Amino acid sequence: MSIQVFGLPVSRGVAIGRAVLVASSRVDVAHYYVEAAMIDAEVRRLGAARDLVVQELTALKGDVPEDAHDELVALLDVHLMLLQDDSLSEATRQWIVERHYNAEWALSSQLEVIARQFDEMEDEYLRDRKADLEQVVERVITALGRLGGDSFDNPPPQGQRDFAGEDPLVLVANDIAPADMLKFRRSVFTGFVTDVGGRNSHTAIVARSMDIPAVVGAREASRIVTQDDWIIIDGDAGVVIVNPSPIVLEEYRFRQRQVELERARLDRLRHTPAVTLDGHPIELLANIELPSDAQAVLDAGAVGVGLFRSEFLFMNRAGRLPGEEEQYEAYSKVVKALAGLPVTIRTVDIGADKQLDRTPQQMERVDHNLNPALGLRAIRWSLSEPEMFGEQLRAILRASVHGKVRLLVPMVAQLREVRLLIEAIERAKAQLRARAQAYVDVAIGAMIEVPAAALMLPSLLKYFDFVSIGTNDLIQYTLAIDRADEAVSHLYDPWHPAVLRLIAQTIAKAQELGKEVSVCGEMAGDPAFTELLLGMGLRSFSMHPTQVSSIKKRILRVDSSVWNKHIDLICEADDPQVTYGRLQTAVPGHVGG
Ligand code: PEP
Ligand code: MG
Repeated sequence: MSIQVFGLPVSRGVAIGRAVLVASSRVDVAHYYVEAAMIDAEVRRLGAARDLVVQELTALKGDVPEDAHDELVALLDVHLMLLQDDSLSEATRQWIVERHYNAEWALSSQLEVIARQFDEMEDEYLRDRKADLEQVVERVITALGRLGGDSFDNPPPQGQRDFAGEDPLVLVANDIAPADMLKFRRSVFTGFVTDVGGRNSHTAIVARSMDIPAVVGAREASRIVTQDDWIIIDGDAGVVIVNPSPIVLEEYRFRQRQVELERARLDRLRHTPAVTLDGHPIELLANIELPSDAQAVLDAGAVGVGLFRSEFLFMNRAGRLPGEEEQYEAYSKVVKALAGLPVTIRTVDIGADKQLDRTPQQMERVDHNLNPALGLRAIRWSLSEPEMFGEQLRAILRASVHGKVRLLVPMVAQLREVRLLIEAIERAKAQLRARAQAYVDVAIGAMIEVPAAALMLPSLLKYFDFVSIGTNDLIQYTLAIDRADEAVSHLYDPWHPAVLRLIAQTIAKAQELGKEVSVCGEMAGDPAFTELLLGMGLRSFSMHPTQVSSIKKRILRVDSSVWNKHIDLICEADDPQVTYGRLQTAVPGHVGG
């Protein structure tokens, strides 16, 4: 039977594929295809890991103290039995042999299948055995890691990964952390669905940067979908269709082809300069997460990096943060690849939904921190970790000798912090001079993403060379809406008059004071806001590389002077979106849609 599940559209397009269900605790399990010639070796790897766990459990049994004997031994016997049961071992082997899944992926797929069967059991004792099964699988996955041979960090070339004739796969999970999303950038999934999450959570942002269709906040999806179901992800409408009928499937395949054609058309704009109808050149920059994204920036025809979210270098690190040298290499790689085009490196923005590795202790800290978005995040965290911050500042300053670097600071809200920041930068420079290491005096910018910063812009601008408006957080903090929480996502409103007034004011004030201003939040890459931002006088936009061509197409058809005349009317309206919609049909040369 076909079922529809509704969620929030976060990344456009249509994905059609077989569902891979992943439990949140295991999302960081590697997912890749094993080449045909390596299947036997992968099955042996699985067998070796299982044998290792059997040995460990048997040894544990021998060590059980007398007084705890019966209960513990019974538990270990249950684990040993589960481990050797065909429903786990033989079925997992089949995922490897028939689907070419790597052992970890095969195990977690089979775990999901059996876990469902446990959930449906009447008998409470048997239902509770699900936890034992999960523990056993965790043990085998850990043993696989210890045995090595996982080629995830050195994935085979693309052609080999796209193992012949396989169905496309889409990921279904309760939740995916931004750090885990990064891992999926190198894996096989063509779309994803999560039960939780907001439109502008960092998980959603990474999905948009990957340009794969995605729906979040689909509440029951991971319960309704079963392993291997065919599903359609409609990333435009925020709908997930489970087991679609052949007619619906055909309709969506048609839409997929249309999207591909539109992409090919947009591609032709790559080398066209972005200039409005009234002759204003517009700077289109790109947002990136990792050094490997640099090529995508150039391919998209962007004229620089407007936001390098450096915190992604700090994730998936097993507790070891990148030091000065490693960061210097990472930043230099981007700066050299951009060959003189500006690269705006944002200092680390850890906190809120972007946590460092989630060790139990850190999770506890996050759990106890009732409002992580209001807590020790971004510049606040950096100032509380002076050594780490010094390393990052020195790495950025050193990379500046290879091209044009700009340093951007997230979540600026207090002049006290700004003074500490300036001191930290001066200290980093002095240390470099003492070491006789070269650097350039880079431009320093503030993210305007807290209303306080927007309201005190003239005071801030005494210290900064440029500003970049982070609309994602500006909306979150102006409206007191957690951007990652789907329960309040209907209130997360970029069209709110307070938000629009803060953006318009910031652009106008920065320009009046002769400072460069850009927008790097998601509004910059959303064609629904292009006329509005151009009308406000914005001349620099930063977005995912995948958005550059569609925004350019829009810009080429806009007369910004016409929209400029309507900005006050729109911003002063009780419902700016309605006013804007009316104007769209009335303004000559409007581009519609
Ligand atoms: C923003 O807040 O708009 C922004 C660009 O930063 P991030 O999404 O990384 O918080
Ligand atoms: Mg932000």
